[in-house]
Amino acid sequence: MFTHQSRNRHQQLQQHARRQPQLFLAFALTLLLHCLSVTQAFVIKEDESFLQTPYYHSQAEIEDMFARFAKTFPENARVETIGRSLEGRNLIVLQIGRNVQQPSTPLTPMVKYIGNMHGDETIGRQLLVYLAQYLLYNYETSLEVANLVNTTDIYLMPTMNPDGYERSQEGNCESLPNYIGRTNAAGIDLNRDFPDRLENQQVSQLRSHKRQPETAAIINWVLGKPFVLSANFHGGAIVASYPYDNSIAHHECCEESLTPDDRVFKLMAHTYANNHPIMRKGHNCNDTFTDGITNGANWYELNGGMQDFNYAFSNCFEMTIELSCCKYPTADTLPAEWARNKRSLMQLLKLSHIGVKGLVTDASGYPIADANILVSGIEDKPIRTTKRGEYWRLLTPGIYNVQALAFGYQPSEPKQVHVTNENSEALRLDFVLSPRELNYDGISSFYNNFFYRH
Ligand SMILES: [Zn+2]
Repeated sequence: MFTHQSRNRHQQLQQHARRQPQLFLAFALTLLLHCLSVTQAFVIKEDESFLQTPYYHSQAEIEDMFARFAKTFPENARVETIGRSLEGRNLIVLQIGRNVQQPSTPLTPMVKYIGNMHGDETIGRQLLVYLAQYLLYNYETSLEVANLVNTTDIYLMPTMNPDGYERSQEGNCESLPNYIGRTNAAGIDLNRDFPDRLENQQVSQLRSHKRQPETAAIINWVLGKPFVLSANFHGGAIVASYPYDNSIAHHECCEESLTPDDRVFKLMAHTYANNHPIMRKGHNCNDTFTDGITNGANWYELNGGMQDFNYAFSNCFEMTIELSCCKYPTADTLPAEWARNKRSLMQLLKLSHIGVKGLVTDASGYPIADANILVSGIEDKPIRTTKRGEYWRLLTPGIYNVQALAFGYQPSEPKQVHVTNENSEALRLDFVLSPRELNYDGISSFYNNFFYRH
């Protein structure tokens, strides 16, 4: 029997026992929240404030923004106009790097991203505006961004065809009749307007007279700067497409036309596609591409394209990235597009650090320009040294023999390297060349052997 008092006490104890799990839960929850707030203090959230109220930036807004960046981040951002469109709009580029006011540290690889070559394919244009903001706003707080910017010379060109963009309409998933908007102000498709590796000299000369100012600006830029890696962004499909776009057979499609550097290009394409949650699936926009990548000519052949020009006429390895089924989707899709492409954009830039790089000099350390770097198995694609004697040779993992050849110098001995691509920068491999003894008429035998061979 319980007394009144003891019954009360018993009820209290029962209530307490019932409450105990609740108390424990409350305590655990408080502890968890506390831990989360402590953790949050250490995990710095990335600044992606640029995604609020998404809209497509106009030409004037991009120019204003880039000018503002050059003022606000003078060490890391510099604006350049590499030419003008047919209607006089600036072809504007933002350079992002460790110290852009100075010539870059030797052996810093140069990379470029070009958007909106077809004026009505617009996602790439805005993604590059976002990428510029992402790199600059997070440089101080993100180790990944700082490492990339400090070791890479990055050039972002949001629009290569500003005139076409002006003629395009937001929400149009397909091109307008007569490809207005896709083409430039003269109605020319800029991705058919480049010098072609397979055209004969006469055709080449004829075409050069009619070359559009946008194309000419890019040609001069590519030939004048030692770019290592590049991507140009399109719409209307979702796939990473790599050279060649044209082929000797000139079939419309369905036959691969591969470069000597197919392994590097496949790595580049896989890197972009694998980091893109939709592209990697390979079934998009009524097309199927295994792993979300394709050889250009195997998809459909085109002549005078920009990616082939880069690879065939310079040291630059360029790919074409198709971002979305709809060419000019409404701006509310842009934050999701950024989220899908952010990893891919970052990882592809990092690939400029694969393979080997180094300096070619004479015995006194004087740089040798225009030396050829030949790699066993890929001799058909020599890489040329810059004025500062630098070279970058993108390679997939493997064992290679690398040799340097230059006019007036004895060829170097082949150097064997084991490329793993496990380091954050390319493997360093320098060459010191000795002058070649001249024969009786003053012509080096190297000249005879090498240059007349082709
Ligand atoms: Zn396109």
